[in-house]
Amino acid sequence: MDDVIIIGGSFAGLAGALQLGRARRKVTVLDTGLPRNRFAGHSHGLLGHDHKPPLDILAEARQQLARYPTVKLVNARAESVSGAIDDFSVVTDDGETLRARRLILSYGETLRARRLILSYGVIDQMPDVPGFAEGWGTSIVPCPYCDGFEVAGQHWGLVWSGRQSHNQVRLFHDWTDRLTVFADGHDIPPDIRADLARRNTPVVDGRIIEIAHHGGHNATVKLDTGPNVAVDILFAHPRNKPSASLHQSLGLATVDTPVGIILKVDERRETSMPGIYAAGDLANPLTPPSVTLASSHGAMAGIFAQQSMLV
Ligand SMILES: Cc1cc2nc3c(=O)[nH]c(=O)nc-3n(C[C@H](O)[C@H](O)[C@H](O)COP(=O)(O)OP(=O)(O)OC[C@H]3O[C@@H](n4cnc5c(N)ncnc54)[C@H](O)[C@@H]3O)c2cc1C
Repeated sequence: MDDVIIIGGSFAGLAGALQLGRARRKVTVLDTGLPRNRFAGHSHGLLGHDHKPPLDILAEARQQLARYPTVKLVNARAESVSGAIDDFSVVTDDGETLRARRLILSYGETLRARRLILSYGVIDQMPDVPGFAEGWGTSIVPCPYCDGFEVAGQHWGLVWSGRQSHNQVRLFHDWTDRLTVFADGHDIPPDIRADLARRNTPVVDGRIIEIAHHGGHNATVKLDTGPNVAVDILFAHPRNKPSASLHQSLGLATVDTPVGIILKVDERRETSMPGIYAAGDLANPLTPPSVTLASSHGAMAGIFAQQSMLV
């Protein structure tokens, strides 16, 4: 019987497991092996692991966790969750049920309280544009901190996704002065267009109908209004959704962001349901998404879950 079951064993989940394992807590991590940045050749910005393939970082983390005898890593999908604090049940896809519940000894002296950490991440929903999904992670990327340095000073494109894209334009100027905005059917208000003009940032109207890739970062954006525009890298922020719906069946509170919903957590990473913590992209209100933040929030969730179990 576990102290904590962690659902999602990537950057956030494994960071939580590390803290719990070091605190000698019994933990099971369930994971289906599909981290959000698996499309990227390299991960950037994580101290000590900069410019490493993301799957290598995770493999190394799993290897290091093998030191901790109370941490069990299981390749399985969590299908459903039920129960309440100190008595959670998680059913996995192979039908195995892992029960986590408080054991009250006959005389009530020892309590084994139990917790859940949800760290199952989000899925980016690819628009129905030929070439978009194929280029995701190489020539189409979401975050300048992740991929900007390698293409600094070059010609960037930004697919407009709403008012929040205006902040991206301001942000991108730290990396390049050569930026083209693709309105992609959005109605960009006149005041924002005026600001973009002041920043020497051209706006290309029309809908994107295809994105062609040429190896490496560069791409050609094809528009229904023509002509085609070549860029050295294209930034885009497709909508995303949680990778599982377990939070829905639990009735957990969520927060709307411009690109999707996230779970609401307090400063201890606890969700609206006592005993359930959340970490990583699933509960990160900050943009852009980040392995560093996911790991840090995962570690916090592990620590606060552990501290909530102190007798
Ligand atoms: C193209 C791209 C490039 C990026 N590059 C960088 C970068 O260079 N640097 C950086 O800091 N960040 C980068 N990011 C952001 C980074 O990928 C995320 O911030 C990070 O992966 C979030 O970690 P996480 O643990 O919250 O979720 P994820 O890494 O998405 O992991 C969630 C895990 O949960 C598992 N899972 C899902 N459902 C279930 C279930 N029901 N049961 C069990 N397991 C389940 C999944 O298989 C997955 O392993 C990039 C993102 C993208 C899209």
